[in-house]
Amino acid sequence: MNLVVFDIDGTLIQYHKKKNDLAYVRAVRETFGIKIEDDWASYIHSTDSGILSEIIEKNRGRSCTPEDVVLFKKNMNSWLDREYGKEPFECTPGAKECLNEIGNDSDWTAAIATGNWEFSGGYKLQSGGLDFKGIPFASADDGITRESILQAARAKAEKALLTRPFEKIVYVGDWIWDVKAAETLGWGFIGIASGEEEKAIREAGAKQVIPDFSRLRKLLNRI
Ligand SMILES: [Mg+2]
Repeated sequence: MNLVVFDIDGTLIQYHKKKNDLAYVRAVRETFGIKIEDDWASYIHSTDSGILSEIIEKNRGRSCTPEDVVLFKKNMNSWLDREYGKEPFECTPGAKECLNEIGNDSDWTAAIATGNWEFSGGYKLQSGGLDFKGIPFASADDGITRESILQAARAKAEKALLTRPFEKIVYVGDWIWDVKAAETLGWGFIGIASGEEEKAIREAGAKQVIPDFSRLRKLLNRI
């Protein structure tokens, strides 16, 4: 059995800067009184948990506590709902069909790994109309680094299937940090990107890049 792991932002769900990032920025300000910019690539670990830890350490000179995380998530959830509850996220063309097809495939199984918190990643998938019930799901609640979240997704998929280690694992993502994480883990990689983003991830080493999900299943069998 082979495993394909999907990222959410910019991969299963179309990236929307305003909807995506504002709730986080506002919740940091509301919870901790700290004003930040949404330049996520400047953080050591560009995951919701990694970014929050770094913000608290830099601005408060202490570690992020479980209480900080609980309060922050509560505020972020309320911003997501208040601002975007009536403005749905959009899934990437072909993503829905692709997840359904993999669900019926005897050679491949799917998992989801996101740098979002579990609640915000789930919120986006649901808002975009993607049915992810029963798909192993790892998030920033499972780790601070992208690599640890990807490994959590693999472990959850193994547990769900009671399978031996997967023969082949492919990660499908949209950005440079995804290319690097797949390389570190020795996994295959397929990029979902076009234009400037495609150029950036190709420069980072991505060999297979497609604009949407229509050719994904064919490509999986070639990796
Ligand atoms: Mg992404």
